[in-house]
Amino acid sequence: MQGKIGVTSENLFPIIKKFLYSDHDIFLREIVSNAVDATQKLKTLASVGQYNGNTENLKVRVSIDKEAQTLTISDNGIGLTAEEMDKYLNQIAFSGATEFLEKYKDDANAIIGHFGLGFYSSFMVSTEVEVVSLSHKEGSTASKWSCSGSPEYTIEDTTRAEVGTDVIMHINEESKEFLEEARIQALLNKYCKFLPIEIVFGEKKEWKDGKEESTGEDNIINDTHPAWTKKPADLKDEDYSKFYRQLYPTGDDPMFHIHLNVDYPFNLTGVLYFPRLKNNVEIQKNKIQLYCNQVFVTDHVEGIVPEFLTLLHGVIDSPDIPLNVSRSYLQSDSNVKKISSHITKKVADRLHEIFKNQRDDFEAKWDDLKIFIAYGMLSEEKFYDRAMKFFLLKNTEGKAFTWEEYENVIKENQTDKNNKMVYLYATDQTEQYSFIEAAKAKGYDVLLMDDMLATPMLNQLEQKFPEKSFVRVDSNVADKLIEKENENKQELTSEEKTVLSPIFEAVTPSEEVNFMIDFEDLGEASQPMVITQNEFMRRMKDMSTMQPGMNIYGDMPDSYNLVVNIAHPLVKQVLEQKDNTLGEDLEKFSSDIQNKKSEVESLNKLKEGKKEDEVPQEEKDQMTDLNNALSKLEGDRREKLQAFGKDSALAKQLVDLALLANNMLKGKALNEFVQRSVQLIK
Ligand code: ADP
Repeated sequence: MQGKIGVTSENLFPIIKKFLYSDHDIFLREIVSNAVDATQKLKTLASVGQYNGNTENLKVRVSIDKEAQTLTISDNGIGLTAEEMDKYLNQIAFSGATEFLEKYKDDANAIIGHFGLGFYSSFMVSTEVEVVSLSHKEGSTASKWSCSGSPEYTIEDTTRAEVGTDVIMHINEESKEFLEEARIQALLNKYCKFLPIEIVFGEKKEWKDGKEESTGEDNIINDTHPAWTKKPADLKDEDYSKFYRQLYPTGDDPMFHIHLNVDYPFNLTGVLYFPRLKNNVEIQKNKIQLYCNQVFVTDHVEGIVPEFLTLLHGVIDSPDIPLNVSRSYLQSDSNVKKISSHITKKVADRLHEIFKNQRDDFEAKWDDLKIFIAYGMLSEEKFYDRAMKFFLLKNTEGKAFTWEEYENVIKENQTDKNNKMVYLYATDQTEQYSFIEAAKAKGYDVLLMDDMLATPMLNQLEQKFPEKSFVRVDSNVADKLIEKENENKQELTSEEKTVLSPIFEAVTPSEEVNFMIDFEDLGEASQPMVITQNEFMRRMKDMSTMQPGMNIYGDMPDSYNLVVNIAHPLVKQVLEQKDNTLGEDLEKFSSDIQNKKSEVESLNKLKEGKKEDEVPQEEKDQMTDLNNALSKLEGDRREKLQAFGKDSALAKQLVDLALLANNMLKGKALNEFVQRSVQLIK
């Protein structure tokens, strides 16, 4: 018999060969899966009494013949009659083919799936393909179909001892790699590791006297009953660990597993594992393997499961996920959406269950879990709602609380005068040590939020709970972290602050960072000076490193507050020295400035009620002169104070100590500090 493959396939062969090049190892999966299907169909027929032959020993064999340059996939499945060959191997039903092929030319999976071209993918790697088959139907004779890549094919009579099919691929020049045992072994391992029928590739080998020798036994490359196909009740923890090792031979053991088993409204099975997540999230992604009836489809599950779940490991198997379509289509598919929200729910439920039943274990593993959970809470609203029950806050003493529990811990002492509850946190227990201690001394509790998602997480919590706010311990002096009703404290007027600032400005670093000088009564027992960083600005900068769009903040220099404790004896000493050195000068400046200001005021009085063009030129000139004189006076006073600050070893020493406490004193400045300290001790 002779024939021509469906007309439209004339343009198909060149496309198969050319466009599918990048993905061409898929052919093996396609041909082996067809063979597996054929054996399973035979089993089904036998079970309903339509086939009486032996179905005990159903197998698929993969073999390489280097001499003949062929790769053969043989099965003892249902087989094909000549008519069926003509019908199934030749007819490719498709419409709008050219358009579709153009669109998906880079996605072999999509093309293969769309046209049911599984079998034709063999032409990606072959000059000629032969199919030798004996149908299970009684009285059948064997036939051989062959085609050398042009649309013409032949079907002739042949002999085959057993029911089943051989697909013989004459490997082409560019695809010689598929005649290498190691290459085929690797592909079988990738695509066929969990197929439901035994796949045999050569013979088992053993090391004997320093040599590898064949044992004569079939080398079965797959596990036909992987864990996810079994009932959870039939599996022990060890079985799950063993299965994890089958999937990922190297790497740490996972912490927990979830066995997924759904049959309504869609079919889904699988086992997911929680790996130990450190801060290197990227490399953990894309470990979930997706299967369709135990056939490996992909390990890129973006679009099928929510982004944060891609941090998990394991297997998902579903015949209901439209596997062979483009990713953008997948994302909008309603089945995929359902599956994805189901998995999210299952994952949350499982975590909640572990939290409830094994809280100690859950807390012990929290540091490895928190990135995953925070990621989920930040990206999936539904997961957030569920996770609030087991999301933990850990304080600097290592104690863990749920959101609800923690509220009770701080309600009393950490509610500010506006009735806002203030959550204090540190991001680095060593660097922020002195701030943590200061806050604790006031009876506050301090959380440790030191992971990479801490900032977005606390932003989210503040959005959800507008009556709560997060404040980092070093964003203000302990007294001011939580503003209570006004206490009786010494305060400087803003005029006094302006006058004193230049002394300390002169001795704070000015390169790359900005310092604002502020004065507070922190009490005699506190440090003379404290450096803090504004919560809002710091958070904006933190966020900008994660989100490229926020670079305006990222480019701004770091800005800090230098809080001078006016109640501290050493600060008082600096201020006294200032009075001793500059006292008279400063008084003179003050009275001169005061005089000029009164003159400005009287001039302003004159102007009252007049329009701009009614003010005489003389008065305008006078005003300009006065203002110039005033700024000159203020400038000069500033300079005098700065010069004093520069000369004050004590002021310099106090600022350096504050810098040192914040780990901000480095290099030359540190060296000078050490030398100056030695001088002071002498
Ligand atoms: P699909 O598997 O998507 O239907 P294929 O192109 O892979 O498309 O196969 C076409 C048809 O050829 C199959 O549906 C099946 O009827 C038949 N076929 C392919 N391989 C075998 C085989 N090894 N044994 C029996 N029938 C086969």
